[in-house]
Amino acid sequence: MPTGFARRSLAVLIVTALAVVLCAPAADARPAQSPTDRTVDVRLIGINDFHGNLQPPTGSSGRVSNADGSTTDAGGAAFLATHVKTLESEVKNSILLSAGDNIGASPLVSALFHDEPTIEFLNDIGLDASAVGNHEFDEGYAELKRIQFGGCHPTDGCQFRPTYTGAKFPFLGANVFFTNGLPAVLPFTVKFEGGIPIGIIGITLQDLPSVVTPAAVEGLKFGGEVQAIDRTANLLDRLGVKTLVVTMHQGDQSEGGGPQACNLEAGGIAQKIAATATPKVDAFFTGHSHQQYNCSVNDPAGNPRPVIQGLSFGRLLSTIDIKIDKKTRDVIRSATVSKNVVVTRTVAADPVVQKMVDDAAALAAPIGNRPVGSITADLVRTAPPSGEQPLGDVIADAQLAATTSNGAQIAITNPGGIRVDLVFKASGTEGDGVVTYAEAFAVQPFSNIMQTITLTGARLDAVLEQQWQPTATRILQISASLHYSQNLSQPIGSRVSDITVNGVPVDPTAPYKVSVNNFLAAGGDGFTVFAEGTDLVGGPIDLDAFTAYLTAHPNLAPPPADRVTVIG
Ligand SMILES: [Zn+2]
Repeated sequence: MPTGFARRSLAVLIVTALAVVLCAPAADARPAQSPTDRTVDVRLIGINDFHGNLQPPTGSSGRVSNADGSTTDAGGAAFLATHVKTLESEVKNSILLSAGDNIGASPLVSALFHDEPTIEFLNDIGLDASAVGNHEFDEGYAELKRIQFGGCHPTDGCQFRPTYTGAKFPFLGANVFFTNGLPAVLPFTVKFEGGIPIGIIGITLQDLPSVVTPAAVEGLKFGGEVQAIDRTANLLDRLGVKTLVVTMHQGDQSEGGGPQACNLEAGGIAQKIAATATPKVDAFFTGHSHQQYNCSVNDPAGNPRPVIQGLSFGRLLSTIDIKIDKKTRDVIRSATVSKNVVVTRTVAADPVVQKMVDDAAALAAPIGNRPVGSITADLVRTAPPSGEQPLGDVIADAQLAATTSNGAQIAITNPGGIRVDLVFKASGTEGDGVVTYAEAFAVQPFSNIMQTITLTGARLDAVLEQQWQPTATRILQISASLHYSQNLSQPIGSRVSDITVNGVPVDPTAPYKVSVNNFLAAGGDGFTVFAEGTDLVGGPIDLDAFTAYLTAHPNLAPPPADRVTVIG
């Protein structure tokens, strides 16, 4: 199958090989006299999970938690651009990388234009390469190719600028293949800094198909992270590229501390990859988990290498300063210094980026500023020990209301699909408590389709048990018609009891009509029992369900957290 990525992949491989071969004698022939002559300093700057947050994100999405428990307002593309320039101005050589999820699940100001403004921003700040995140696949492989190489959207055309010329940086994914085994995305790129080739290897999560809708990754397969890193690193090593950096859309959970802390939950996949992958790799930028950490993990040879992540939405920039020995062309690991830098809003906004963001906001305003409802207080995603969120309650209720015509009795939604809090006092010009379309959109940006399926009472029980998995806990958000008890002192698989639907105890053999989004219906986030549902019928888009409910219920108050009872 001829594809742009595959053809260009081959071209890059050849160009890289030539460039390295041509460059090699020059680097070796130069006589090294003083320590500064013998080394090259390079600053690697990383961003991850930007998700189209061109305007400063609001609520908890726009704050960084510091080590002392205080918070700092952070984020906004124009401020980020200024911080990047400052970090670059402090050094002679620098490379700017992203660990993926630049686009997708983005606010209206970016999403309305198929995230073209965000790509323009990343082009403007000189991004050198990005890993592909799961959200780069949200609208499928063909759309990712368009994002990379340009062209107007096939159905919506070019709505932001007269043309769309694509990303000036490559999307990388060394473990992304077509089902026939050919690479579907470029595996790596090489940058030259101070005459030294630096290999950038892009990796995405092997489990990517479990976090996107099946249609989005049809015809693709995703290989193991470590195998892909090792294979690509060995290839680059043979080409003479000895300084190797992995930018990886995969990350761990952190247990608090500020941006410089390293309190990773034990057993995380990123630590495992960093501890296992070939010692040829010198540094890891990570992402996907939206956490802040600045860690050092020993490679299999016992030498430390940084593993860093900078939250999400452009609130932090991660820096890794490396010192390269010109003779070996490899990193002197003991001299590596890594740090997360807060993207404060006290610096001057970059005028070029600010103008672009203003353009996008002006074009989106007529749609985005339309009021769709009102709330009496913040509807947040923070939850009591039961995991029941006020905002999750409202969204599940909205999804049930939008699918009663399907005969739905209950609605269940995934916490990962609820992206931001709905804040009472928004930063815009609208009055307090007014919810605009743009704000509702930011909460439910995926354009998931509602689907109603039939589950037996036994399967309803089984799917609720799947909230606790060995690697993650994800508490589903449920409509007011569903109640149950959870007992965490019981083993995984036996924690749910007392399930009722509309106040009636659930019969294991009786059928129940359950509304979920298409992501859950396909068994997403490990809720495989949903995929066993029968009699599937479609419904509206989740955002439309949400805005219709907000409109029908003005002055909506946070519901009491009484749907899930914690016992034991
Ligand atoms: Zn992700």
